[in-house]
Amino acid sequence: KSFEEADLNPVMKENVRLARYTAPTPVQTYSIPIVTAGKDLMACAQTGSGKTAAFLIPTLSALFTSAKELQKPRPAPYETRQYKAEPLVLIIAPTRELCSQIFDECRRFTYRSCLRPCAVYGGADSMGQLRQLERGCDVLAAAPGRLMDFINRGKIGLSRVKYLILDEADRMLDMGFESIIRNLITKHDMPADRQTLLFSATFPRAIRSLARDFLRQDYLFLR
Ligand code: AMP
Repeated sequence: KSFEEADLNPVMKENVRLARYTAPTPVQTYSIPIVTAGKDLMACAQTGSGKTAAFLIPTLSALFTSAKELQKPRPAPYETRQYKAEPLVLIIAPTRELCSQIFDECRRFTYRSCLRPCAVYGGADSMGQLRQLERGCDVLAAAPGRLMDFINRGKIGLSRVKYLILDEADRMLDMGFESIIRNLITKHDMPADRQTLLFSATFPRAIRSLARDFLRQDYLFLR
């Protein structure tokens, strides 16, 4: 099935055309209808498979269609000091490189929409990232440590997350982020009716247990 035939918002179809993605990759072909149908998903995907677009295209497309109800007024400038970013899409990824690649794809796919992408990760200036958040943050690509830090400082809240995406989940566990991730999901007011997508190259016991604990029972496993 082509992108043109897929059940996507017209703004997203136009953004896909502008990105010059002519045919969907296999992971995109399988994930787009599943995510569009509102299901949770665990998918096997290597770097280079087109996994980023596989989760961004259907989630952002659905938000374009419902964005009016979801939008909160932007803070007036004098309120900026108390501003807390409340993303609708939260992508947690292991490294700053991956977060910034995801952010680039977010920019490409939020073009001509009212949704604003942001990225937060360690090893870079916090002040600059906070300023970005204050300009609006609907789609956030975040590395676990910096995300936790900003949440603890009251700069990011998770109570409006509609889509939670765990990218390269096996690498995050290898890097020792399991307890941070579990804590982020359980201790920070994330809505229970969110949709959760987990992407990983391998599926050791710890990944399957993460899926059992945080995906809905009827989640699909795309191998
Ligand atoms: P990823 O696996 O998400 O890291 O994507 C690998 C690269 O493939 C990125 O540079 C994407 O922009 C590109 N890409 C993803 N999907 C497509 C597609 N359907 N057609 C052409 N390029 C794509």
